[in-house]
Amino acid sequence: MNYTVRAALSGLAIAMTCTCHVVAQAPDPGVYVIEKNDTLIEIASRFNTSVAELKRLNNIGNPKTIRAGSTLSVPKQFEVYAVKSGDTISEIAQAHRIRDDHLIRYNALSAPDKLKIGQVLKIPLRMKASPGTPARPVYVPPAMAADVRAQLAKYPVNSRWKWIAIHHSATTQGSLESMDRYHKEERHMTNGLAYHFVIGNGRNMGDGAIGIGNRWKQQIKGGHLFSEWQNNITIGICLVGNFEKGAPTARQMKSLEALLAWLQTRTGIRKGMIMPHRKMNVKPTACPGKYFPTDKLLAKLR
Ligand SMILES: [Zn+2]
Repeated sequence: MNYTVRAALSGLAIAMTCTCHVVAQAPDPGVYVIEKNDTLIEIASRFNTSVAELKRLNNIGNPKTIRAGSTLSVPKQFEVYAVKSGDTISEIAQAHRIRDDHLIRYNALSAPDKLKIGQVLKIPLRMKASPGTPARPVYVPPAMAADVRAQLAKYPVNSRWKWIAIHHSATTQGSLESMDRYHKEERHMTNGLAYHFVIGNGRNMGDGAIGIGNRWKQQIKGGHLFSEWQNNITIGICLVGNFEKGAPTARQMKSLEALLAWLQTRTGIRKGMIMPHRKMNVKPTACPGKYFPTDKLLAKLR
């Protein structure tokens, strides 16, 4: 990645200090210092451009004449945007036709919901939809309760998480505390509650209330899957209810969507890696029950 950053940064410096040679319509060039054994094909692919474009930008007749240590103009890699009052990361992403999770990762933002006015964000150009292609409708998940959002912001997110498994409690009622007790006392799990999150159904815990378990707070592995290596990399979410007998409540599903969208943004987990327990467990299980609307849920997520 070093060369990309260096080239992009020098491109930025040129754009800011030297406007006199900018030709109308031409892309703002960045500069790449050629390294030993580089070929134009490799450089073109690194900068998401073509050999023909590199030749055109640099007036290269014979590609064999490129020398290590000399410089090449390459297409600009990003543009910059200064955060204005009231901006949110999703609005900035939408306005620049890129995905908010791409924007967050490209800028390595640890607190994307706490942007500062004047903060400079890099907008990666190669992730941008090309002009003329209609922007894909952006999925707007239901809003998450402010207190839960504030709670979640307190805990760092480990890079271990690759999958998300959805469970039901298979009981008509329950809460984070009751399940924590059960897993400690009856199942003898030292870390208690096997899941990272519990979503209540209004019986013993608020309808749609999101409970954050200790395993999430401490970023430690779950105990909700048969395979230990899956437990090690899989976030477990349990909805209270028995979905072999009836469907989850509308509020539970809204909270689940909001939580999944939050987790996807923070972990980069794609929807293909979000599954009902039964789909990933190596031991057969009905969890989260035949009335859990898996297809409807996944169709909404991005
Ligand atoms: Zn389960």
